[in-house]
Amino acid sequence: MNVSTSLNVFDAAIPRTEAVRRCAAAGFASLDMNYWDFQKQVLHMSEEEERAWARDIRASADEAGVRFTQMHGPVHGPTFANLVLELTLDAYERLVERSLRTAHILGVPWVVFHPSNLSVDGGESYEQTLEFNVRFYRKFVPILEETGVGIALENMTGHRQARTYFTVPEEQIELIDALDHPLVGACWDTGHGHKMSLNQKEAIAALGSRLKATHIQDNNGTHDQHVLPYQGTIRWDEVAQTLKAIGYEGDFTYETHNSIRTLPDGIRDAGLTYACSLGHYIISL
Ligand SMILES: [Zn+2]
Repeated sequence: MNVSTSLNVFDAAIPRTEAVRRCAAAGFASLDMNYWDFQKQVLHMSEEEERAWARDIRASADEAGVRFTQMHGPVHGPTFANLVLELTLDAYERLVERSLRTAHILGVPWVVFHPSNLSVDGGESYEQTLEFNVRFYRKFVPILEETGVGIALENMTGHRQARTYFTVPEEQIELIDALDHPLVGACWDTGHGHKMSLNQKEAIAALGSRLKATHIQDNNGTHDQHVLPYQGTIRWDEVAQTLKAIGYEGDFTYETHNSIRTLPDGIRDAGLTYACSLGHYIISL
């Protein structure tokens, strides 16, 4: 298990090639590409421009001696009924396909996506929601098989106003098992699980060999804060020990932008070096 970070520790105005170089210099051997933060820009690029952008980022990683082991895919929005950036569901599907081809160029094995509710009020049943998500994600199986890139479906975090599906590992597992494909697995977001008051040990153990990616982030148990371990109340010894116990083969991948991106740029590299040491400490527990 390597300690890895999303490149979202740098805001989008900083070129990803520079973000790669600085994360590698801080000691990270693996990285997560934050395609999500660039989906608006990507929509204004031709497919050829996007490929050139991806090839430059890949070249910077190769030069720095680091590998991309995850990517956060584009997001549709809070539910399938209220899509971001005025996307239609068809346009979002095209964006997913583009992101998978970009992941292939970057050498990313697993791209993380959000399963979600269908409507804003969450009035639909769990069965309807499960069926829709299975049908939606199954459409991408041909491109997964063509590129060899897998998708990891993430545990979500709940809204107060309506029941949010796929916040518990049981529902995440049901969706993944219904898709029943070796290129479909799970991403465990520790902070989402903590906000939902879940036991990390039980959740990670339940996901077992389905687990392909992680979003490592801490919080106070009530807000989805995306901060570094020990800045919240997660039991990190339990997380590390359970990841090892299930034979998890992916990386310990930070999604902790609120501890790093918020720093002035002059101290950010030191923050990254600290985050990397902290990750190595935790995975040795
Ligand atoms: Zn996440």
